[in-house]
Amino acid sequence: LQDRLGSIFSGLTGRGALSDKDVAAALREIRRALIEADVALEVVRDFTDRVREKAVGVDVVKSVKPGQMVVKIVHDELVEMLGSEGETIDLNAPSPVVIMMVGLQGSGKTTTSAKIAKRLTGRDKKKVLMASLDTRRPAAQEQLRQLGEQVDVVTLPIIEGQSPSDIAKRAVQAGKLGGYDVVILDTAGRTHIDEPLMIEMADIRKHADPHEILLVADSLTGQDAVNLAKSFDERVGITGLVLTRMDGDGRGGAALSMRAVTGKPIKLIGTGERMDEMEEFHPKRIADRILGMGDIVSLVEKAAENIDQEKAAQMAKKMQEGKFDMNDLADQLHQMKKMGGMGGIMGMMPGMGKMKDQMAAAGMDDSIFNRQLAIIGSMTKHERARPDILKHSRKKRIAAGSGTNAAEINKLLKMHRQMADMMKSMKGKKGGGMMGKMMG
Ligand code: GDP
Ligand code: MG
Repeated sequence: LQDRLGSIFSGLTGRGALSDKDVAAALREIRRALIEADVALEVVRDFTDRVREKAVGVDVVKSVKPGQMVVKIVHDELVEMLGSEGETIDLNAPSPVVIMMVGLQGSGKTTTSAKIAKRLTGRDKKKVLMASLDTRRPAAQEQLRQLGEQVDVVTLPIIEGQSPSDIAKRAVQAGKLGGYDVVILDTAGRTHIDEPLMIEMADIRKHADPHEILLVADSLTGQDAVNLAKSFDERVGITGLVLTRMDGDGRGGAALSMRAVTGKPIKLIGTGERMDEMEEFHPKRIADRILGMGDIVSLVEKAAENIDQEKAAQMAKKMQEGKFDMNDLADQLHQMKKMGGMGGIMGMMPGMGKMKDQMAAAGMDDSIFNRQLAIIGSMTKHERARPDILKHSRKKRIAAGSGTNAAEINKLLKMHRQMADMMKSMKGKKGGGMMGKMMG
């Protein structure tokens, strides 16, 4: 995927406003990325339509390519669609607040029930009772009892032969009598959605009147996510989503699919089998993961923030003319420093890790920018414009002025010569410049 994203960036050139063609080309790749991330097809279609509408005509920040700009718009739109940060379990109701966990078999309902119970008793100092309504799997009730023991949370005593809704009623009753703040109802799943499951869930709901109904879903759920979320929402009515197994290699496309079709917030993320492996939902993180593109978005953001538009235009003009003096080099160094130095820039570009290592090996670390800028700062105006006049005595003076040495000055001069040559060879070509090269 990164190769493909890379090719969008090099494939698209031109500046100004995003054209239909720019957007269409980038969206083709984005569509593929979303499908690869297991976002449901109908959601992909809706989403790309929305982005197309937003993107066409948007101004492209100088120094980034149209393809990158589209990626940024896509990312922002994804974050927005995924919903707000910090949506959490709502306990704002008379005690005991009933939380009902629903979902397919193996999605992580029982595990998540215990994780939530642990968090509510520990961090939030609530008095919590858990009950398993799973009468289908022989050991299910026992599984919850054991997890309860592990996290030190009371579970409703098991009575054989009771129906799920009977257990639900008993749990709520026990919650009231025992002065519990929260009652968590762990329900049975099925391998796939069927009518009996929906009837069972609706029946439990009727008897327990839960304040929260959380649909627990495996983040690896692919195209089924839409149907799953729709069914549970329409038939049972959910108040939020929990995505489990975000520790796996799933790309989290299910988050977007389920959020898009239900409009319900993603409240929690399961990140492992252990009882403390549960996190709040951060839309930005999931968006990055769905697009799977390293930090390209932050690169675009930084570029937009930091690159002085006017300077960039001046620079482009100079390059057109094939001129590149020490002042220009100083400008480039300043911009690179602002963008987080070599490490910052290189680290953000897909496939650039190796080049970064090579530069580090060659001694091109971040502190070097400051020394290079000091050298240029110790030059006279005339020397900066005509660095070729720098001979031994001038270099000695500059070394003393900048606290460096002749070897470092020679290195910088060599770098300048190479860059100036490169500029000359690109003379007349569009989008040149060191930044242009690096971004391309
Ligand atoms: P249920 O059938 O919906 O109740 O699912 P369970 O809670 O019994 O979970 C099924 C399996 O998934 C168990 O082995 C859990 O340990 C595991 N599991 C649950 N949540 C996570 C998670 O967030 N990450 C990982 N890696 N495993 C999980
Ligand atoms: Mg279970």
